[in-house]
Amino acid sequence: MTKVTILLEVLVYLCFKAINMFGKGSRLYSIFKMKCPRCHEGNFFVDKPYKLSRAGDLHQNCSNCGLKYSKEPGFYYGAMYVAYALAVALFVTLWVSMNLFFTNISVGWQIGIIVLSAIVLTPYMYALSKIIWANLFIKYDKDARGYGLTKKSTDSLSV
Ligand SMILES: [Zn+2]
Repeated sequence: MTKVTILLEVLVYLCFKAINMFGKGSRLYSIFKMKCPRCHEGNFFVDKPYKLSRAGDLHQNCSNCGLKYSKEPGFYYGAMYVAYALAVALFVTLWVSMNLFFTNISVGWQIGIIVLSAIVLTPYMYALSKIIWANLFIKYDKDARGYGLTKKSTDSLSV
């Protein structure tokens, strides 16, 4: 085998791995599709993140598996830490990118771009932080369909 074929096989393997990372059953699938963390079928949010009147509003239960999305009052206060981490990641990514690719951009423009991006992305980051927080505590269960409809849905949150 030549080095090129080995390299190609590694690339194909990595592509399949990357596809699996976003496939059903992975946390990334639930996060980016904004689906129930347990069954990956029911919608997590009532509406899209940019529908500002209902931004971040969750369904009470999953329409597919019946999982109660909020185990206790204030469960999603912890999502603030996730939101903070996302904001820092956005800031660092933008700042490093601008300094790598646009070396002659002024500090004022850099701050303006970062602030504008933060404002525009706030509804999406808010939604992301909530579903990431939920995914930290709720595991995927491929047999979850209908589970919560027959059992008490409050028993179903695995912490
Ligand atoms: Zn579900």
